[in-house]
Amino acid sequence: MKLNVLVTGAAGRTGRLVLENLLSDKDTFEPRGLVRSFEKAKESLEDHYAKLEPVLVEGDVTRPDTLVSPMTGIEALVILVSAVPKMHPPVDGQPPSFYFEKGGMPETVDWIGAKNQIDLAKRLGVSHVLLVGSMGSSNDNDPLNRVGDGNILRFKRKAEQYLIDSGLTYTIVNPGGLRNEPAGERELLVGRNDELFSIYSRSACSIPRADVARIVVSALTAEDARNKAFDVVGRPKGDGIPTADVSALFATTGPTL
Ligand code: NAP
Repeated sequence: MKLNVLVTGAAGRTGRLVLENLLSDKDTFEPRGLVRSFEKAKESLEDHYAKLEPVLVEGDVTRPDTLVSPMTGIEALVILVSAVPKMHPPVDGQPPSFYFEKGGMPETVDWIGAKNQIDLAKRLGVSHVLLVGSMGSSNDNDPLNRVGDGNILRFKRKAEQYLIDSGLTYTIVNPGGLRNEPAGERELLVGRNDELFSIYSRSACSIPRADVARIVVSALTAEDARNKAFDVVGRPKGDGIPTADVSALFATTGPTL
């Protein structure tokens, strides 16, 4: 029996990698990917669109009615949507400033949007919900909360807690800063509640999106990834031994406190 999985945010930079990894394991997964519009996905997915198009469905996480059909019949849900800040045109001598588009504030997308998906997952009997959040969310004063006055990490944390309290089986993966680099070149480390920030500098707490995608896909079938929330970063290239088997990471983190 194959696992029916929906990846939301499938036209995003990590969502696309997750969907491609799922599609490459045809014996295990029957995936589909939710995008806001086929037209926009065609632009952002570029050369990847043609391969993914047969499994794409449209929906908007802020409109629960649009999620019912895409989520019907799935056994696992991967939440990879996020509000995305835009930069105001630069002004000489001023630091860069950011805003969120109308309808795209973190409260609407990262909190209400996640809640919509979790509520529907519960109603439809989805067995496992995997949420990708972000490191930094344990600290309300994190500078990312000030970007575009969006409190993005605060709302991501709120969604995490809602999922934990939902009674659904969950896995929460909170990566450090995301890099567009290949997978498998770094030693990966897991931690909890941002403790890795006190061991490594903030700038060193980063990880390739492709490694996050490997972890997400592995967590879908790993028993010991269930009901856990953990942070993950990659050590600088050349430090340590690159992590070949990401499933071994799950055993090194305990259940959520
Ligand atoms: P991304 O490329 O920014 O993709 C986000 C996706 O969310 C986009 O495809 C977007 O769709 C979708 N989305 C936004 N609003 C939506 C809505 N209302 N309905 C449906 N889809 C919606 O993602 P990423 O940079 O790979 O990040 C993946 C996750 O890791 C995010 O949760 C992010 O916050 C988190 N993270 C990021 C960093 C970092 O350094 N950037 C660090 C740690 C964690 P459209 O394509 O239609 O716009």
